[in-house]
Amino acid sequence: MIYDHLFFTALARLHAERRYRVFADLERIAGCFPHAIWHSPDGPRPVVIWCSNDYLGMGQHPKVIGAMIETAIRMGAGAGGTRNISGTNHPLVELEREVADLHGKEAALVFTSGYVSNESGIATIAKLLPNCVILSDASNHNSMIEGVRRAGAERKIWRHNDVGHLEELLAAEERERPKLIVFEALYSMDGDVAPVNEICALAERYGAMTYIDEVHSAGMYGPAGAGIAAREGALHRIDVVEGTLAKAFGCLGGYIAASAEIVDAVRSYAPGFIFTTALPPAVCAAATAAIRHLKVSQWERERHQDRAARVKAALNAAGLSVMPTDSHIVPVMVGDPEKCKKASDLLLAKHGIYVQPINYPTVSYGTERLRITPTPYHDDALIDALVEALCDVWRRLALPRRYRDLMAG
Ligand SMILES: *Cc1c(COP(=O)(O)O)cnc(C)c1O
Repeated sequence: MIYDHLFFTALARLHAERRYRVFADLERIAGCFPHAIWHSPDGPRPVVIWCSNDYLGMGQHPKVIGAMIETAIRMGAGAGGTRNISGTNHPLVELEREVADLHGKEAALVFTSGYVSNESGIATIAKLLPNCVILSDASNHNSMIEGVRRAGAERKIWRHNDVGHLEELLAAEERERPKLIVFEALYSMDGDVAPVNEICALAERYGAMTYIDEVHSAGMYGPAGAGIAAREGALHRIDVVEGTLAKAFGCLGGYIAASAEIVDAVRSYAPGFIFTTALPPAVCAAATAAIRHLKVSQWERERHQDRAARVKAALNAAGLSVMPTDSHIVPVMVGDPEKCKKASDLLLAKHGIYVQPINYPTVSYGTERLRITPTPYHDDALIDALVEALCDVWRRLALPRRYRDLMAG
């Protein structure tokens, strides 16, 4: 192929920058979370997963698996079409009602992923606001950045979680100009939380719409798992809540929840919603089962926080460089892409512990890290083994121990 060398060169760039991604071939074992089988180059090996976004293990919950199997047997595998062309299956309609109810909104719209819901949702909403300006947090997820880009509207980036800067940008606009503030409730790489009520107060003062990504908080925070905005008593001040069915709810799909008008407009105008096959009924039924379970069960949320606190305390006691966070995310700083990759490789090869390296462009240069996500199913023995393994790897690679020293140096 005469074009092949161009692709080779593109890949060589990634290798040179130490950000070529290698995927671990994993086989999850239902009922044994977080244990799994790693299909390594030398054959299958047991591993413990410490970086899953199935934060509450709902992907393996008997109710969720049961709903999926039972629905697949009754209704088959695929939806059979786009939403407009025979794909609007009953479990999907029920799921949208469940999501709307979870976030206290009039309506909800389900997409094939959280990524698509942001990309298509933000772009469509902004396009429907004449001469709109989008105010986007500097740390927003790639799916939101793409949504903002596709909107084609003017965009202004405010410094991460800096409401003073947001206010400056808002105040500089004409009062009548439509404004859309897009931000995340909980930022998944640093584990920090947005000042939701302060942002909403500014939105009200300057007449802006609010769009919040609750991907890393829905199911895990707030009463009934409605998220951070709900926990902060700010849900009624938020215009659009976006979330995923693939993280705390353990399945697949994304959504927005909002007023009936906004949802109907996005349903009618968003290409990423219209021109793609609807989610399969079994996936929808499974997601509904997960949401319903987490609405009433506190056990997963309490145990999740308890486990996260225990991991942080154990790592700190061992003198490891844990970034302080106010959430379930436990970032351990490495600060070097090569060593970050090596640390991850050693954990897997020597200790059967799987934590993938987080390098640029997911995080900025110099803040490369291991991102540990404890779940309700990581028991004390697994936590002890993790700490021991990390200490061993930190010794072997002579990695910095203290977060403060690392940030100072
Ligand atoms: C994972 C993620 C998404 C995308 O959700 P998917 O359902 O995985 O496509 C959106 N926003 C944020 C902040 C995420 O981390």
